[in-house]
Amino acid sequence: MKLNRIIRLIAFSGILFHLSCAEDITEESKPEKVNIKSEPKVSPKAYGFNLDEFEVVRDTVKRGDTFGVIMDKYGVGPGKVYQIVNKIPDSIMNFKRINQGKPYTILKSKDSTSALQHFIYENSRINYSVLSLTDSIFAKKANKPVTIKQKSTSGVISSSLSAAIDEAGLDYLLTNRFADIYQWSVDFFKLQKGDQFKLIYKEKYIDDTIYAGLESIDAAVLKHKGREFYAFDFEIDTLTGRTDYFDENAKTLRSFFLKAPLKFSRISSRYTRRRFHPVQKRWKAHKGTDYAAGTGTPIWSTADGVVIKSSYTSGNGKYVKIRHTNKYTTQYLHMSRRAVKVGEYVKQGEIIGYVGQTGLATGPHVCYRFWVNGRQVDPYKQDLPDAEPMKEELKPKYFEFIKPLKTQLDDIEYVDLNS
Ligand SMILES: [Zn+2]
Repeated sequence: MKLNRIIRLIAFSGILFHLSCAEDITEESKPEKVNIKSEPKVSPKAYGFNLDEFEVVRDTVKRGDTFGVIMDKYGVGPGKVYQIVNKIPDSIMNFKRINQGKPYTILKSKDSTSALQHFIYENSRINYSVLSLTDSIFAKKANKPVTIKQKSTSGVISSSLSAAIDEAGLDYLLTNRFADIYQWSVDFFKLQKGDQFKLIYKEKYIDDTIYAGLESIDAAVLKHKGREFYAFDFEIDTLTGRTDYFDENAKTLRSFFLKAPLKFSRISSRYTRRRFHPVQKRWKAHKGTDYAAGTGTPIWSTADGVVIKSSYTSGNGKYVKIRHTNKYTTQYLHMSRRAVKVGEYVKQGEIIGYVGQTGLATGPHVCYRFWVNGRQVDPYKQDLPDAEPMKEELKPKYFEFIKPLKTQLDDIEYVDLNS
């Protein structure tokens, strides 16, 4: 019962962790990319201006505000607004898209005229546009400085302590990204309470202080049933900068097949020679795995291949069948909508349809079927091939690269199971 609950939680939102406090290890590990200041700076500088030289007004776009309304408030009349809008291209400052809730800053002269000199509009947390009305009308786009900080954390997988991720102030993307790394090598349904992990990851900060999202997970280790699964993010193509995860022996973490064809809420029926059919009300074999998920959930091809059927039968409902190699074929049933046509080439993870309950089905799910040499089998009981291995010539560089990371990872302590 308890395991069931853990399973559901894991499947529903990626994984839920009990996290220890994130430990900042930036300075020692990656000094070249990091710019940490020991004391908080109280700088009068912002957006490239010395704020002491102006009367500063900070505000957000209110309901009903347009660029014209805001300008009018600060004494810039319609004639000038017309000139501005005509002169400045949309790509620099889009005057029609001044959105409610966005922050802006007005810099006024300190003299008696109190004239508007600069209008700074924040397009996003990182990007902003500056409109200057000092000598002539001038505008530019700019970015706030973003710094990357490397951090580490450790945690224990638990259902009851799931709220801890919020309490620790960590990004939910961290758990999603973590689950993605291990999607081929670990069956997340079999993760147990007490399984532990350690992570080294990078976060982005604006102006060195404002969190702006997860940059990457550099290294991870998952201790599952007492076995440690290492993962290191390594650049495999210097031209494109493409990276991928490999273990401590340079073995890829990817498999030729994904563990499951979707993000599902639970397995409602496993592959079995004999089960009581819920619709037909009789005992028969179930040569597939049923994954329950909401109607419309995307279904992925579990491997690269060619669509050999995209069709409908009264039993299967709308379904898609894919040949991956001469040896392997997969099929996906009961779709609400199919997204591919016969003859189409699909990549692993590409959307081929959406969950539904067409055909013989009591609720929305996908029935996933798997053939090896024309014989239907349970994919969970097969020894399936790996994805493309690392090129031999990259291996010396790889082992050199992971050495300090692995030491760093091994130096992090696992969260105490009893805490
Ligand atoms: Zn089924």
